[in-house]
Amino acid sequence: LVKAIDVTKNYGTFRALDKVSLEVARGEVSCIIGPSGSGKSTLLRCINLLERMDGGAIWVKDELIGYRRDGNNLHEISDAEISRQRRRIGMVFQRFNLFPHKTALENIIEGPVQVLGEPVNEARDRAAALLERVGLADKANHYPSELSGGQQQRVAIARAMGMRPDLILFDEPTSALDPELVSEVLDVMRDLAASGMTMIVVTHELGFARNVANTVTFMETGKVVETGLASEVLSTPKSARTAEFIKAVH
Ligand code: ATP
Ligand code: MG
Repeated sequence: LVKAIDVTKNYGTFRALDKVSLEVARGEVSCIIGPSGSGKSTLLRCINLLERMDGGAIWVKDELIGYRRDGNNLHEISDAEISRQRRRIGMVFQRFNLFPHKTALENIIEGPVQVLGEPVNEARDRAAALLERVGLADKANHYPSELSGGQQQRVAIARAMGMRPDLILFDEPTSALDPELVSEVLDVMRDLAASGMTMIVVTHELGFARNVANTVTFMETGKVVETGLASEVLSTPKSARTAEFIKAVH
């Protein structure tokens, strides 16, 4: 479903991504791990077009992301095309990025109504069902400031799902949470994975990676050091650097 080949991204003279490749099949959960500054967020930002890459290519559902091919030439696509591509890709950030002046329910229906043109009643019913699914049926009319961090993050996941995306990207969704709130968010993500959603998850939660992910990719200084089946990378890493990192995170 997602295929990234040799993705390169520079910030000025600094190379944040150096020929990074990643493939994620439909319904798979792919975890990305690695030290701070290794380019994990940058990779997610290239996939959902928050960032323009300088080299390589990314396909989602066999569609080239951000560019149009014309013979041997690549052309940047229009802003409208970018918006169309981006809304197929859900994103959940480390910091809760809910609209503060909207209730949980309003946060979820915003995209479906404004962007997908869904009738409000239909969007409301679906949002209520999504809130139920993330265990927040009773919080529909609460504002983000009236919710815990874990609850806000579960609303953010429900909001991403409300757009019926092809895949959802998670950038350290639990690392800003108090420890006791982490598992409620991971549980929701586990259910989502079990429902067949394709997910790319940047996380330091190796337990989640071990139990839920199909594949794990270890990145360092903008490069993929190692990628493979979660069970293999996490228990018998081939690279000494991967082993060292896994040991340090534990
Ligand atoms: P963390 O675990 O801390 O979130 P990360 O693996 O997500 O780290 P990135 O945020 O992708 O790392 O950053 C990769 C590198 O690119 C870092 O060295 C960072 O300083 C640099 N970088 C990221 N964004 C920018 C930017 N907008 N301008 C310049 N440099 C940037
Ligand atoms: Mg990051």
